[in-house]
Amino acid sequence: MTVDSGLAPREGTPYGGPDPKPEKRIVDVVAMRRFRKNSAPVCQVCGKPWPRYAMSIHHIVPRSQGGDDVEANFAYVDGHGSSGCHGCLESRRNGARFRLRQVLSQAQVDYVVAKKGQAWLDRHYPVSAVSDRSPVKSSA
Ligand SMILES: [Zn+2]
Repeated sequence: MTVDSGLAPREGTPYGGPDPKPEKRIVDVVAMRRFRKNSAPVCQVCGKPWPRYAMSIHHIVPRSQGGDDVEANFAYVDGHGSSGCHGCLESRRNGARFRLRQVLSQAQVDYVVAKKGQAWLDRHYPVSAVSDRSPVKSSA
């Protein structure tokens, strides 16, 4: 007797097993340290100089989405994830992602496009200054 679970086997996995593991991301604390050391302590978003302790590395493709610890995936910004420009990038506030997009190097753009595609880049780091988040519905 067979029990029908109602679940069709997934494509490519004959027994309906789990999805294949995502590709391992490159983890390289040395690359991060080197980038920090070789970068001028000037925020790539607001363009202001900051003391080094106030700076942090933003992963352009987030680590949670497979973004690697490679120089082309790093942006040097002030704040630390929830503060400063880093905080604005993470929460998509104040056009921070638009401003970062404007100063991305060709190597950074190439990395992101190779990793996630042009559509992902345009969605997460818009080229237009209109807004980098969904428009707020106006009641007027
Ligand atoms: Zn800044």
